[in-house]
Amino acid sequence: MSKTLRELAMDAATRAHSPYSKAKVGAAVETDSGKVYQGCNVENSSFGGTICAERVAILKAVSEGQKKLARIYVYTVDGWPPCGLCLQVMTEFADPGLEVTIGDGAGKETRRTLGDLLPMAFTPGHLK
Ligand code: ZN
Repeated sequence: MSKTLRELAMDAATRAHSPYSKAKVGAAVETDSGKVYQGCNVENSSFGGTICAERVAILKAVSEGQKKLARIYVYTVDGWPPCGLCLQVMTEFADPGLEVTIGDGAGKETRRTLGDLLPMAFTPGHLK
């Protein structure tokens, strides 16, 4: 049996490079073709070079030619939601109905749509 998105996100979190915040964040994104990509947060001593787990997973998918997200799972021990920048990047590659699941270390899961989390998103459609 294949691993669940939660298991893959938790697995990715173990690879976080977070020597400054000590936060371990993992993400797993499934694309419309059923492929899954994992991401962890990767901090940088410049701080500005830091990238969140969600964006790592999404950019891995896009760099492999997968440009339509179907679901995303974000894991932290404390159940942190995605930041605004990650929500904006999701908006580029997903519909407002994208299922975003936030999981914590106790097994609690909160499920929202991208549109719920970023209701007035700036979308590619604004530039047409
Ligand atoms: Zn983020």
